[in-house]
Amino acid sequence: MKRIYIKNLNENVGKEVVIKGWVAVRRDQGKMVFMDIRDMSGIVQCVVLTSHSEALEQVKEVRTEWVLSVTGIVNKRPEKNVKADVVGGDIELEITDIEVLNKTETIPFEINDDTRKINEDTRLKYRYVDLRSNRMQKNIRNRHKVIKFIRDFLDEEDFIEVETPILTKSTPEGSRDYIVPSRLSPGMFYALPQSPQQYKQLLMTAGVEKYFQIARCMRDEDTRGDRQPEFTQLDLEMSFVEREDVMELNEKLLIGIVQKLYPEKKIQQIPFPRFTYTEVMEKYNSDKPDMRENKNDPNLLAFCWVTDFPFFEKTDRGGWTFTHNPFSRPKPEYMEWLMNKEKIGEILTTQYDVVLNGVEIGGGSIRNHNPKALEKVFEIMGHKTEDIQKNFGHMMTAFSLGTPPHGGIAWGLDRLIMLLQNEPNIREVIPFAKTGEGKDLMMDSPSEISDEQLRELGIILKKKN
Ligand code: ASP
Repeated sequence: MKRIYIKNLNENVGKEVVIKGWVAVRRDQGKMVFMDIRDMSGIVQCVVLTSHSEALEQVKEVRTEWVLSVTGIVNKRPEKNVKADVVGGDIELEITDIEVLNKTETIPFEINDDTRKINEDTRLKYRYVDLRSNRMQKNIRNRHKVIKFIRDFLDEEDFIEVETPILTKSTPEGSRDYIVPSRLSPGMFYALPQSPQQYKQLLMTAGVEKYFQIARCMRDEDTRGDRQPEFTQLDLEMSFVEREDVMELNEKLLIGIVQKLYPEKKIQQIPFPRFTYTEVMEKYNSDKPDMRENKNDPNLLAFCWVTDFPFFEKTDRGGWTFTHNPFSRPKPEYMEWLMNKEKIGEILTTQYDVVLNGVEIGGGSIRNHNPKALEKVFEIMGHKTEDIQKNFGHMMTAFSLGTPPHGGIAWGLDRLIMLLQNEPNIREVIPFAKTGEGKDLMMDSPSEISDEQLRELGIILKKKN
């Protein structure tokens, strides 16, 4: 018999069916044995009655989390036992036969609705068990829905998703790069992308005009708060646009996600309020203000935009560095100061950040598509002419070969989903998250590699002390 999903059981009342899944709960009442069986679509109470003696024998051996194929008759539950708030709460499966598909050793922790109370290292080590819990299933399934909504929405708006390389070159996003040694070019290294920034801009040169990507980004940062070595962005870029166009599109997309997928949530203010950096600092003393009128309401979403950030800030060593993105264009009225490298601290950028409930969930800008102006940015930051050529020559060349004006944004998708799912940190919405120290406890990574691998790469490790 063909397996059916638990969510479809109530269309089969009175019929014999086969379901397959995991034993969530097992209650032996001597004469009768109850089991809750779980599959990806739901959970259903099953009962083995004394009249089915063979099945009763079989079920005695079964333990929680065993994987079973169960044959049974779908019965309506007596009125008093109906659980109206549970999918399949009005039916019960009367088991006639059990086939064990896989036995399970004692599981490391109980898979209840809220595994957050369990030691997190244990959850990360046995992530595949943790992910079976109802809450984690919702997190990964809703994550999928958000991403699918984004893809469909942007496709409707004539965007295309383009993949960009993972093995690439150091990019100046402001963090340390993850480095990959090259075997074929000994002594040379790739860097993993901190973001697809340069590629997406080059796709504008390439005439794509509307690009997006659900992109993995890698940043080798010290363990600070709620960060992961790799995280996911919705990255997008558009040609022939101004700041307003990018902000408007993103606002529409964010509202769409909430209204379609989280109808129980309320957006505090539409259109999203906007502040300049100066205003927001004066009013809230933060460039990520939590604007919620009621912070106890888990369903209240207070978005806002922050614009007009300073382009540069002083470094500890008295030089200048960019505040957000070196590829940003200054606001038009500050272009002259940039070109003359004057009043550097007062130059404002076209950067816009989008903030939700006090968390920065995205940021972007209109880009500097004039090669001379981009060169000035790097000069201000103290790069020598030959270094600018070496590191960014490809961008300058592209910008002199027909690059349209363009701009874009990237969202921290994990953070957005964390807030939508009412989770306290991004690890709860990243299926295979790493620890705060950047360790994957399930795969036991990072790990040593063999002498043979080191030799092939031409790497000699310094002796550990
Ligand atoms: N690439 C930038 C970042 O990752 C975002 C952008 O400006 O599009 O922060």
